[in-house]
Amino acid sequence: MSKNSEKRKYRKYGTSGKQHFRVVSEVGVPHPYMVTEKHLEYNQDQMYLGKEQIEEMEKEHGNMCGFKCGMPWSEHKIALMVECTADIHTKTGKMNRELQTYLKSIKDKTEKNGYAGFAFLDKREIKRQSK
Ligand SMILES: [Zn+2]
Repeated sequence: MSKNSEKRKYRKYGTSGKQHFRVVSEVGVPHPYMVTEKHLEYNQDQMYLGKEQIEEMEKEHGNMCGFKCGMPWSEHKIALMVECTADIHTKTGKMNRELQTYLKSIKDKTEKNGYAGFAFLDKREIKRQSK
C-alpha cells in the first residue's frame, strides 16, 4: 500500500481535540501472524493464502504461527496504532482525558472495522532519544 492510501485509510479516525493523538497505522497483537515455509508447502494447490486456507491447515496440522506461540490464526488480532505527542497518562496514573475522549469517539468505528484495540506510539520519547 502506498503512503498516501495508508494516510487516507486512517484519516477517517480524525485527531483528538488538541491534536495530540491520531491513528497512524495498525499493528498485530500480541504479534503479527507469521507465515512460514510450512504454510507454502501445504498450500501448493491454491492460488491464495489467507484466512480460509490457514484455518483449513490448522484443522489438519495444528496451530502454525511461525512464532510458535501456540495460538490459532483467529487469535492474532489487529490493533490501531495511535501516535501520541502528549503524555498518555497523567501524573496520578490516569489516562490523559484528551486521549480518553478521542478513543471513546472512535471506538464504535474501530470495533466495526474489526480492530481488537489500540497500541500507542510515543512520539515524544522518540524525539528525546534522537537528540
Ligand atoms: Zn503467533
